[in-house]
Amino acid sequence: SSDLVGFIGLGNMGLPMARNLMAKGHRLVVYDTVKTQVDAAVSDGAIAATGPSEVAKQATTICTMLPASQHVRDVYTSPGGIFSAVQSGSLLIDCSTIDRDSAIEMSELAKENNTQYIDAPVSGGVGAATNGLLTFMLGGPDDCYERAKPLLEKMGKNVFHCGENGAGQATKICNNMLLAIEMIGTSEVLLMAQNLGLDPKLCSKVINASSGRSWSCDTYNPCPGVMENVPSSRNYEGGFGTGLMRKDLTLAQAAAVGSKSVTPLGAMALHIYNLMCQHGFEKKDFSSVYKFLEQEN
Ligand code: NAD
Repeated sequence: SSDLVGFIGLGNMGLPMARNLMAKGHRLVVYDTVKTQVDAAVSDGAIAATGPSEVAKQATTICTMLPASQHVRDVYTSPGGIFSAVQSGSLLIDCSTIDRDSAIEMSELAKENNTQYIDAPVSGGVGAATNGLLTFMLGGPDDCYERAKPLLEKMGKNVFHCGENGAGQATKICNNMLLAIEMIGTSEVLLMAQNLGLDPKLCSKVINASSGRSWSCDTYNPCPGVMENVPSSRNYEGGFGTGLMRKDLTLAQAAAVGSKSVTPLGAMALHIYNLMCQHGFEKKDFSSVYKFLEQEN
């Protein structure tokens, strides 16, 4: 396609996602506050922009992949933000995980600016982002979903329409609350297995063929030495930051309170990820809960 696609936020997830769009024939105009991230995309053929408004001047489809709500608000609404320069009719796809209310607010501002906005958070981790195998969870009107889908299919294998604006974000925090609980549980079990004299690799293999199986055990195993090419095999570098998981669990607990849902394990998971952030794990991958519990053992 000759039309430029904008991409803002080229971190652990955004950079490989942008690379897939380029590999599949799109020309990209990109921005990140960290220059080395922009340089990496430029070396693969992207055009560098000096800020979100410069992206919006050149592209009518813009993806954002930013850490949290405040970054999304900043990129969309600040004086140099997307809305300051956006072209009428543009499609704005936010792939970040943020709170549902902010997503709804961005969708309303988009409407006022004669543009379309869809919340499109993702699941699958850096591996799925790299291999174009993400799952997208979309919230927005039908026509917006139909318009976003072909582009998102170049970065993912599943594109689900979860409902109106905000429903993508709501679905995502449900997923991530379960992910955190399963990651903590998997870590507890693999530590106990070793205390029982079992080999964690063999124990994982059995679990993966049994009813305790989960993505945390079979795709992202937290115990060093069980799997290659996962954060636990490289001192928990890269991946999905513990600080970002704390953010998602905080969003999940706010959603639980707001919807009067009883979530004892979600609350406990937030407590554990809070403790980890206080003990120097914030920048490590979230599977380092294994390391944290090992220290406590
Ligand atoms: P990251 O911190 O690695 O990347 C975020 C990028 O945004 C960084 O490069 C940062 O410099 C850039 N940025 C921050 N503020 C900016 C601004 N104002 N303008 C331009 N760029 C800015 O985070 P990530 O791991 O890529 O995650 C991004 C989002 O995706 C988060 O909401 C996260 O919860 C979600 N997510 C992450 C994973 C994962 O496995 N890492 C999986 C699913 C969802």
